[in-house]
Amino acid sequence: MSNDLCKESIALEQEQTVKKLESEDGQPIMEFEVTAKLPTKYGDFMIHGFENRVTGEHHVALTMGDVGNGEPVLTRVHSECLTGDVFGSAKCDCGDQFDAAMRAIAEEGRGILVYLRQEGRGIGLINKIRAYALQDQGMDTVEANLALGFPPDMRDYTVGAEILNHLGAKRLKLLTNNPEKITGLEKFGIDIVQRVPIETKHKKASDRYMHTKKVKMGHLLGTYN
Ligand SMILES: [Zn+2]
Repeated sequence: MSNDLCKESIALEQEQTVKKLESEDGQPIMEFEVTAKLPTKYGDFMIHGFENRVTGEHHVALTMGDVGNGEPVLTRVHSECLTGDVFGSAKCDCGDQFDAAMRAIAEEGRGILVYLRQEGRGIGLINKIRAYALQDQGMDTVEANLALGFPPDMRDYTVGAEILNHLGAKRLKLLTNNPEKITGLEKFGIDIVQRVPIETKHKKASDRYMHTKKVKMGHLLGTYN
């Protein structure tokens, strides 16, 4: 098995102590900083930089076209996975999902990719590697997280919701296989008018991870039974 604790999420309705970030003054947590052009191998995007006023973390959103005109906008809310997104790790499907989302947005000519810096479903890079080491000994991704003292998913969609709000995107066609992401964003008043599935190509090294995501975490995947 494999697997990581990269992204996609919960659906275990247990005591999830997902903490909500709150600033003391009741103002939005995310502060918009700057926008610039970002030509990519997928097409020409704009990149928007945000800073979390509480933690100092930096997050970005990539957009193509007019995303704030009220029409439902194709959107991916992607949680950072250094090993998958950058190194091409075969332990998870994150890099493939990122690639599929960027292609889908470019094909549509309009869309948003929010890139959240919440590595390892919020537990951080080093703890994610610790979880990998436990998985090397036979645990699955959920068991490894629990063994380290973390809930299966610590991701928080406050940041993503605030970024989408800043961009004027209130109605989304959301690229995801994760029902929790839909409810996570809807809590903030964002209307998910359609779920657009992302099915990535099969990789043997991620079999157990994908199976765990489907069976233990409720992800909507056509394969990996
Ligand atoms: Zn990953």
